Amino acid sequence: MTAKTQFPGTSGLTLEEPLMFEKSIKDRKGYSLPDDDLPELNNDSLLPAKYVRDEISGMPELSELDVVRHFTRLSTWNYSIDHGFYPLGSCTMKYNPKINEVTAGLCGFTHLHPLTPASAAQGALEIMYRLEKYLSEISGLSAVTLQPSAGAQGELTGMLMIKAFHQSRTDSNRNIVLIPDSAHGTNPASSVIAGLTTRTLASGPDGCLDIEALTPHLNGNLAALMMTNPNTLGIFEKKAVEITKLVHDCGGLVYMDGANLNALMGIVKPGDLGVDVLHINLHKTFATPHGGGGPGSGPVAVTKTLEPFLPAPSIKIDPKGFYYFDWHRPLSIGKVHNFWGNFGVMIKAYTYIRSLGAEGIRKVSEAAVLNANYMKERLKPYFHIAYDKLCKHECIFDDSFQHQHDVSTMDIAKRLMDYGFHPPTVYFPLIVKGALMIEPTESESKDTLDQFIDAMIAISEEAKTNPERVKDSPTLPKLKRLDETKAARQTVLKWIPKSTPNA
Ligand SMILES: *Cc1c(COP(=O)(O)O)cnc(C)c1O
Repeated sequence: MTAKTQFPGTSGLTLEEPLMFEKSIKDRKGYSLPDDDLPELNNDSLLPAKYVRDEISGMPELSELDVVRHFTRLSTWNYSIDHGFYPLGSCTMKYNPKINEVTAGLCGFTHLHPLTPASAAQGALEIMYRLEKYLSEISGLSAVTLQPSAGAQGELTGMLMIKAFHQSRTDSNRNIVLIPDSAHGTNPASSVIAGLTTRTLASGPDGCLDIEALTPHLNGNLAALMMTNPNTLGIFEKKAVEITKLVHDCGGLVYMDGANLNALMGIVKPGDLGVDVLHINLHKTFATPHGGGGPGSGPVAVTKTLEPFLPAPSIKIDPKGFYYFDWHRPLSIGKVHNFWGNFGVMIKAYTYIRSLGAEGIRKVSEAAVLNANYMKERLKPYFHIAYDKLCKHECIFDDSFQHQHDVSTMDIAKRLMDYGFHPPTVYFPLIVKGALMIEPTESESKDTLDQFIDAMIAISEEAKTNPERVKDSPTLPKLKRLDETKAARQTVLKWIPKSTPNA
């Protein structure tokens, strides 16, 4: 049994294919133009001679078929959710239904200029207005802004509102934000950019927020507690209601990181837990493709009390049913995005919500939680589980069973690639040493989950019987173990001609 024959998804990633990239052949063409019948121009003032050239040097010379094959082949070298299972934890790589692309691609939307007056863009405004209402319903909070273009920008927007709220009550000593040690790194980053000071809260032995750790901070300096629920260990914060009450009683506010709402939709409304501000990642929970820095959307929902601080403009409807931008918002923190946010993503999220309906949205969460627990139970005998309790949308293992064979989380992740799977999130959250964070999402069938589980079990066996095999992986992908920092920070995304005269 070899990984190549047993498991799906490696077809485009075989080693035999040559790593050819430069394909230019002199004088090959992919176009034909009619003969030039224009009069000779010798008017230097029209285009000075030094800017005129006979040939563009260094450009590749290719036929149309060469170009089509080149890009089609390159597309198979990349891994995506449309290619195979992508269990990246805290990332919700769910299937993005193609109908979302159809609606977002309607020319009435794509040809709409952002400066079109509201009177000529009523449909677009109505979609935004309705999407706000749906997100408000799902979150149990009163008002929503769609402007932020990512989860992290939603956090910044939320923290700026919290700051503005305290300042509006001349309660400006409140500058401390409490953040659990399991949180996403964006939480402290956003708070600091908003001009606040962060303090880390150690999680309790059960992986949850610890009231004892919280108590010493409950004073007049507390601006907010930032919690993630389910937290980044995939565990629901059972004491959330008690904790929000403690924070409110001392004058602080509660921010919830709702980047991953996949476990809660239709089941728990964050507003009911006492949360004041929540951001939602449309590009995770609401089925817009993400990764690679593409357009996202991180709407922020708030309580009635915080509504006046939302970014301007807000979208309103007048008694005649006319949608308009309301710029008259004296307490607003201002604009956080040029124009109105990433509209294309909003259409996709709107389509997703409408195509599922209220009942479907709840089923998404139920299936996401069921899949994660199935994964957890079946893998538990083979991989050490960090917190063995009912999980929500994701479950976390570590490499402590494999240590004795000198096999690490990184080795396991790389070996999974040979089995045709994208590895899970590794070494995060930081409080679990050697973490393997698996989020299967609701999209996957039991067959797919079983295939992945079988691959994981096979790797745990290999770790015992042939650890070198695991440590030498991956063998199938084109590139082996990269310098991951360099690969992320110094990406080469542009082809540059070999010789460019004016470069
Ligand atoms: C993804 C994520 C974020 C950040 O969202 P971006 O859109 O990548 O900025 C914040 N918190 C949690 C828990 C997340 O999973």
